[in-house]
Amino acid sequence: MDVKYGYGYVRVSTDKQEELSPDSQEKLLRDYAKSNNIVLLEIFFEIGISGRKADKRPEFQKMISSAKSSEHPVDVILVWKFSRFARNQEESIVYKSLLKKQHNVDVISVSEPLADGPFGSLIERIIEWMDEYYSIRLSGEVFRGMKENASRGAYQARPPLGYRIVERGKPPVIVPEEAKIVQIIFEKYVNDRMGLFDIARYLNNLGFKTSHGKSFERRSVEYILQNPSYCGMIRWNRTENATNRIKDQSEWILTDGAQEAIISKELFDTAQKQYKATYKPSGKRPSSTYRHWLSGLMKCPVCGRTMTANTMRRANGEPYSYFTCYGYSKGKCEKPNGISSNTIEKEVISCIKNALDTRQVEYELREYKPAESINECALIEERLSGLKGKEDRIRASYREGIDTLEEYRENRALIQKEREALELQLKELQTPNAPSGQHDPAADMLRKIKSVFEILLSDSYTYVQKNEALKQIIDKIVYDKSTETLKIYYFLYQ
Ligand SMILES: [Zn+2]
Repeated sequence: MDVKYGYGYVRVSTDKQEELSPDSQEKLLRDYAKSNNIVLLEIFFEIGISGRKADKRPEFQKMISSAKSSEHPVDVILVWKFSRFARNQEESIVYKSLLKKQHNVDVISVSEPLADGPFGSLIERIIEWMDEYYSIRLSGEVFRGMKENASRGAYQARPPLGYRIVERGKPPVIVPEEAKIVQIIFEKYVNDRMGLFDIARYLNNLGFKTSHGKSFERRSVEYILQNPSYCGMIRWNRTENATNRIKDQSEWILTDGAQEAIISKELFDTAQKQYKATYKPSGKRPSSTYRHWLSGLMKCPVCGRTMTANTMRRANGEPYSYFTCYGYSKGKCEKPNGISSNTIEKEVISCIKNALDTRQVEYELREYKPAESINECALIEERLSGLKGKEDRIRASYREGIDTLEEYRENRALIQKEREALELQLKELQTPNAPSGQHDPAADMLRKIKSVFEILLSDSYTYVQKNEALKQIIDKIVYDKSTETLKIYYFLYQ
């Protein structure tokens, strides 16, 4: 029997007395997993959350979005009862069928085994029918979201390489010298059949840089090749409103944009076809290297190469991740300098906190600031405008009778609290420097560290955003296993 990978989901709501405790639910899931050859990669706990809508269950959302990701980390999700997985039948069927049909993930109730045979297939048919029904409803939702976006100016996000925003709320305009790079990428890929690595190397040899001022890598080329902005389209529904998490590509929606195209629609479509034809899914197992908010920042104290995070397994099959020197894995460095991501995460957070508490920080002053770099202000502003949409939606839910007045007030207060915190953060960032002559870079540095630290600790940012924010202030982090010391190398643009 094949080993399967799974997540467990444990939910206990505040308003029911007769339920099994989280510990008992967990035990049942572990027992079931053991006797069915399932390796539980993670158990998600939702304790004490009541309310009617699924989007209030952050752990559930986290689990579903991970289960749906293209890496296909798990084959099954185990729950004690289906009623733990969803609060009503409709929700349960929709999630189950989406997971099964689009992502090949089974939801299994360990106490209510679903019989095969006639009932099983009857349920299948109902699921198919529900699918259709739900996609109709979903498209209504999406359409509403699009109109909302359009009315407040859809072009707030940072535009990709090749475009620049000149006026707020207006479509981005083409930057000719960057657009040339985009054209080269598409033409080399489609006409010369050049691979992604080769294109990156080719661009680097010519001295071109990404929008972050960095050398091109395989994935930066890949990202550009898949970005429909370049043929004049807009990608909707790419991230979740509440969390900024990137959704599975199958859920993205393309519409015509107002920006000028850099390449033709035909060229774009051909590139997509070619990409799909050559792309090989990486298989069902979790990939051996995984991305992390520390990715690219950790450097080996011996050879200076990047430390990469690898997923390892304990003797009992439980996974954990571990940073080791990339050079060591390639036989080019004598020591692995390994450290578990759990430990290093805590160390880095406490080290940054220590700098903030003591207001003691060493840093390097850098000469110039690249014009195109993402800044924390833009990230925060993006979230502030997202809150506006959220507010509109909870108001609509209340008007349509989905939420009670109490729920509406509760939600509105939460949003207001979040907004105040964000505005404060933004204000601190935008506080002008002391008048020239008494310019205080150390204070600037601490202020930047503080705002990045808040991004790091918040659940509202993706690990990619956290990683990018850290890279705005940190050049590298060196952990030396032999002396157990950690040093963060900060920098500040003058
Ligand atoms: Zn090394």
